[in-house]
Amino acid sequence: MPDVIFPLDPTRKFEDQKYVGHNRWHPDIPPVLTVKQGQSVRIECREWFDGAIVNDDSAEDILNAPLKTVHKLSGPFAVEGAKPGDLLVVDILDVGPLPESSGPLAGQGWGYTGIFAKKNGGGFLTDQFPDAYKAIWDFTGQVATSRHIPHVSFPGLIHPGLMGTAPSAELLARWNAREQALIDTDPLRVPPLALPPEPEGAVLGSLTGADFDRVAATGARTAPPRENGGNQDIKNLSKGTRVFYPVFVDGANLSVGDLHFSQGDGEITFCGAIEMGGFIDLRFEIIPDGMAKYGVGENAIFLPGTVDPRFSEWIAFSGTSVTLDGEQRYLDSDLAYQRACLHAIDYLTKFGYSPEQAYLLLGSAPIEGRLSGVVDIPNSCATVYLPTAIFGFDVRPSVGGPVKIDPGAGAPKADAS
Ligand code: ZN
Repeated sequence: MPDVIFPLDPTRKFEDQKYVGHNRWHPDIPPVLTVKQGQSVRIECREWFDGAIVNDDSAEDILNAPLKTVHKLSGPFAVEGAKPGDLLVVDILDVGPLPESSGPLAGQGWGYTGIFAKKNGGGFLTDQFPDAYKAIWDFTGQVATSRHIPHVSFPGLIHPGLMGTAPSAELLARWNAREQALIDTDPLRVPPLALPPEPEGAVLGSLTGADFDRVAATGARTAPPRENGGNQDIKNLSKGTRVFYPVFVDGANLSVGDLHFSQGDGEITFCGAIEMGGFIDLRFEIIPDGMAKYGVGENAIFLPGTVDPRFSEWIAFSGTSVTLDGEQRYLDSDLAYQRACLHAIDYLTKFGYSPEQAYLLLGSAPIEGRLSGVVDIPNSCATVYLPTAIFGFDVRPSVGGPVKIDPGAGAPKADAS
């Protein structure tokens, strides 16, 4: 087993550990330690809320999820010799849930998917789903099942939702300026257009006093993906993946967290993957001056892993860029993907699922989303593919009509009104 360079004691909060991670991006958050090129290391990770979401049959914790405290990230880790302009090569040697025990933490045999309430986070289909819901998933080896969404099971494609290098001061200033400019176009919007720096709830590694206050005032939130990688939520960053991150500061200062047992393309409920704590084994290498050599100026590239579940049959749903009210939009692929997902949700309700069960399933199961057409004015066409094998019944259309399943008690709800 690789050296455990970032252990997390399951009985302690994230802030009370031997090494304290962070939940904002800033070049002045000191690395917890320096690793050598070629060294294989194990890093333990908390799920993104550090235990605020529990294994029960209520969605009150999702309704009141403490969004200012996310994402709880392990790191930063400096890599010996990395310089701005280099590419940091990160091999994901292994990634998995915490060893199962009687412990209560997400990742110890279970994980969760949430639909965030519109007034606390929202999601891809927040206008149709304004209330909070939760589904708990149980892990049996590689397979996930849920008491809240019966008659489905699928193998996890385990991956980190979030991994990235630290921004330079100049890059951070650019992020803050462009995101504030967007917020200023509609500052009172619910949910907000972007998240400005937020000192409340900030965790900044070993920083204290005036340094803490200074960094907390400008540190970027971790929700969006940016040039440094970050919260890309790419389900294919699984075991065996090699990622190439741009380096913006000496040491690169890589951080990682937000592990997912599984996720559908788009992570559409926002808390849409199967969230869990766990471990990730990494190995680093540097390509000197790699950003210029390969034209990887800004943003990561990667070679996906090869452990994806293989499905031979899919049922696919398409959508176009027309709103539910019938308004024509111009080549709006986000809207087209929303319509494709709503189309799939509608279909699944004909078998007996509630719309929320179907929405939670699309966020967490290994579904594929594609931009099928982006040039045929005025309609983009997006498609979503569901593997038929994840269902314990025949989900294909047939002359006899849909076979009704027993949806059970459903996904727990917390009313946002
Ligand atoms: Zn996540």
